[in-house]
Amino acid sequence: MTIDARRMAERCEALARHSEQPDGLTRVFLSAEQRAVNDLVRGWMGEAGMDTRLDAIGNVVGRYEGTRPGLPCLMLGSHLDTVRDAGKYDGMLGVVAGIECVADLHARGVRLPFAIEVVGFADEEGVRFAATLLGSQAVAGHFDPALLDRTDADGIAMRDALMASGLDPARIREAARRPDEILAYVELHIEQGPVLEAERLPVGVVTAISGGNRFNVEIAGHAGHAGTVPMGLRRDALAAAAECVVAVERIARGVPGVVGTVGRIEALPGAINVIPGRVRFTLDARAPGDELRQQAVAAMKDEFAAIAARRDVTVAVSPVWEARTAACAPALQRQLAAAIHAEGVRVHHLPSGAGHDGMAIVAIAPIGMLFVRCTGGISHHPAEAVTVGDVGIAARVLARFIAQFVPPHR
Ligand SMILES: [Zn+2]
Repeated sequence: MTIDARRMAERCEALARHSEQPDGLTRVFLSAEQRAVNDLVRGWMGEAGMDTRLDAIGNVVGRYEGTRPGLPCLMLGSHLDTVRDAGKYDGMLGVVAGIECVADLHARGVRLPFAIEVVGFADEEGVRFAATLLGSQAVAGHFDPALLDRTDADGIAMRDALMASGLDPARIREAARRPDEILAYVELHIEQGPVLEAERLPVGVVTAISGGNRFNVEIAGHAGHAGTVPMGLRRDALAAAAECVVAVERIARGVPGVVGTVGRIEALPGAINVIPGRVRFTLDARAPGDELRQQAVAAMKDEFAAIAARRDVTVAVSPVWEARTAACAPALQRQLAAAIHAEGVRVHHLPSGAGHDGMAIVAIAPIGMLFVRCTGGISHHPAEAVTVGDVGIAARVLARFIAQFVPPHR
């Protein structure tokens, strides 16, 4: 087996040069930069012995046939779009790794009893149209046509952006794949967290992509003069919110795997000498199991209600988003673990707190994920980094996994 980790790192660098701005990396859905990386990736896929195409929503698809043409595939890949001012590896590393593994098979003339497809999804991050997983949702057959009318910050509708990229909005459903075409979807991705670094491990097996809930919370109390209203007569919305924030932390800490975050808070009227009468804050709660998450969220809401009652304020909790947990198939977890073990690395399992394309693909195929350690757990930032050594280990694990792959029962 020949895995060239340095070439993989160079390819991530090469992809990062296609950016909206010269002094950083931003590459969004259906942009000129995206068209450029699509060409680059298709070139590498072709060199690795794959037939390539752009599907109806703009995903790059490379296919390496098995022992005979037309066999169902093991799908590998990740996304080629980025957040604003992104790192070079989130997404791209998974695409480059898939190509590297196929290049190795091609160089050795190996054909497997299944095809391999490597997909570079066109939109995972959802930056341009504020709707995530557009590429993988289309492949899963779950693209929402109502999104075609959605506009970006410049007022350009998705429908028009597709046409400007040479794609036909009326044909997006042709990107959808049948479940019998895909044996499994396996994605290599940087961890985007600090766990593997703390464990001193280059790679880990993902158990599930955590589901999540987001809420807007509004607390209404009573504004008043900071000098004249005695403490005992106050209905301070911000003091109530502070208790709620601490309750979120306490409840999430109490259940392993659950995370809860208040990321934004706003106090009104927002003056130094006025008791806050109204506060709005956000809540983001995630867990690697739906029941676990629903229990934690219910406990948080109960606690908010108790705090509000005690302080004579009102609290309103409005849901803004919910995603179910996408469990990684146990059989794929076992096969990835065996490949890690064969590489001489201790096996560690961990959930993914961040969302990934597997959340969409799980609707049509069993999913698995291999995480790669990233420096400082940093992602979505120019400081995002991996070592060439870790990249090599991860790609060799993926190659071993492919060589031993047995389709999971479903
Ligand atoms: Zn990603």
